[in-house]
Amino acid sequence: MIKEASKKKCIFCGAKATTRDHVVPKCFFPTNNRFNLVTVPCCFKCNNGKSESDEHFRNFVVMKAGRNAADRWNDTVVRGIRKNRREFGRLIRSMQPVEVVSPSGLFLGRRMQVRFNAEPHDQGIRKITRGLFFHHFGRILPFDTSIDIGIVDTSNSSWSYGLSEIIPHLKANMLGDLKVFQYRFGNTIEDPDTSFWLYTF
Ligand SMILES: [Zn+2]
Repeated sequence: MIKEASKKKCIFCGAKATTRDHVVPKCFFPTNNRFNLVTVPCCFKCNNGKSESDEHFRNFVVMKAGRNAADRWNDTVVRGIRKNRREFGRLIRSMQPVEVVSPSGLFLGRRMQVRFNAEPHDQGIRKITRGLFFHHFGRILPFDTSIDIGIVDTSNSSWSYGLSEIIPHLKANMLGDLKVFQYRFGNTIEDPDTSFWLYTF
């Protein structure tokens, strides 16, 4: 149940809400898969001019998540990147060769990698987290709450190390179908503002 007062406030800055914002940017979902998407109250300023940063964030996730994510998105997103030449050019220019070395020090070859600029990614994750917190708990996450972000590489077999005790306590959910965006979450009884969110792209 969402409190009447919090309905009218932007969940990102506390200003008067005049519109609604998609928690996970619409551009993450193929056009035929845009149902079951969550929106939250948002002010004009926080909502305005965000489509470019949304696309930057999405492209980053596609490049990072690689082939599997592209397949799941039915290649719509990848085509979208190609169409957007400016963004694509920027990505190409940020590519650099890296040497891949196994954990035991064996040289595995070279591949191209996009230079990591974590800020658009972290900003996108923070917005999703604030949005889903509001959606599930019916109140705004206090603005002074810090959000710590970590990236888990699930291709590494020990990815769940340190998380195995938390994961069974989390609730699972997803937005859209095609498994475009799955997530798990939970908060602590002692301090309801302390929560844990695990997103799978
Ligand atoms: Zn705002």
